[in-house]
Amino acid sequence: MKLTEKEIADNYNDVWVLGEIVEGQVHKVTLELLGIARELAGKRASKKSQVVCLLMGSKLAGLEQDLFYQSADKVIMVDDESLKFFNDSIYASVVSRLINKYKPEILISGATSKGRSLMPLVAVQIETGLTADCTGLDIDEESGLLLQTRPAYGGNIIATIKCADHRPQMSTVRQGVFKALESDSSRTGELVIENVLEEEKKTRFTVISEESYGADAKINLHDANVIVAGGRGVKSAEGFEIIHKLAESVQGAVGATRATIDSGWISYAHQVGQTGLTVQPEIYIACGVSGQIQHLVGMQSSDLIIAINKDPDAPIMQLADVAIVGDLFEVVPEITKLMSI
Ligand SMILES: Cc1cc2nc3c(=O)[nH]c(=O)nc-3n(C[C@H](O)[C@H](O)[C@H](O)COP(=O)(O)OP(=O)(O)OC[C@H]3O[C@@H](n4cnc5c(N)ncnc54)[C@H](O)[C@@H]3O)c2cc1C
Repeated sequence: MKLTEKEIADNYNDVWVLGEIVEGQVHKVTLELLGIARELAGKRASKKSQVVCLLMGSKLAGLEQDLFYQSADKVIMVDDESLKFFNDSIYASVVSRLINKYKPEILISGATSKGRSLMPLVAVQIETGLTADCTGLDIDEESGLLLQTRPAYGGNIIATIKCADHRPQMSTVRQGVFKALESDSSRTGELVIENVLEEEKKTRFTVISEESYGADAKINLHDANVIVAGGRGVKSAEGFEIIHKLAESVQGAVGATRATIDSGWISYAHQVGQTGLTVQPEIYIACGVSGQIQHLVGMQSSDLIIAINKDPDAPIMQLADVAIVGDLFEVVPEITKLMSI
């Protein structure tokens, strides 16, 4: 429903993060989102905006503590057996009801499979807009308009999207885009308990079990401190051998550009970029990667970027903290040798 400026100003406040639980623990993306939520709420200090984490699931007691340490002012906990498995219909009904009750100004969620399933349902139920897969979030301090940045038209433009007349302003954000704050164990917060209503449990389908297909540890790019990525410069599937060896020597993971995946040299699980993963390791070593924007959006927030390329004018060389001009087939084995000493 379209709202007037006055209705928005009088009724809507706070930045909400939709918390996610994986195997009994708070998902890393939730902690990352609490970091950006704190920043957004800080810019709405005149409204005394709070950071609120909505946590839903079963057997959640105690998990609120971590969320307080990570900057949540309030945790709204819905702990119910009916939420044990992710049934988007039940989850959406509960989220929508709580939004109508508390009226948050902003609601953000990870662009995980659950977030991608749940957020559109909620947006439809409460009649507001949703910007998916944001790569940046900021806020207009005066109006409270969320500035939601994401690539559009196949990555050819970076669009900033606003949701002017509806609330809450809703976004999903990929893991690795924002950094979690340092945990501060001196922080405390308010815990609010909510329930699932009986009618919300009545759905057209029942989830009877949930299985997760964990990624191969070697491809766990999100958790790797070092990523060694290969681009078309590696020339072939066999050429990736030296990339794997370097990654192994630094206990890192192997990333890749889409060009190499399209060539069938390595599997999609390794793809970094706009249509792959967004990563933020301490060190990203790009080998034979030119640095097209669609790749850069997936790795440009890495702490230290090392690029190895024959072409000193390749775009990645401008972005890199350390740019090594040379043939990767000579440079990469040399680095691997040094790392193995
Ligand atoms: C809608 C859309 C989405 C996309 N999504 C993604 C995405 O998610 N991720 C992604 O990566 N791309 C994506 N792309 C593709 C992207 O535009 C580029 O085509 C791709 O990133 C280029 O990959 P590359 O750097 O490996 O290849 P190239 O651009 O061909 O670069 C190869 C580089 O290797 C260097 N080189 C060659 N030989 C050597 C050598 N022996 N030693 C050292 N250097 C050498 C060359 O100088 C060159 O700079 C997308 C494109 C579109 C249109």
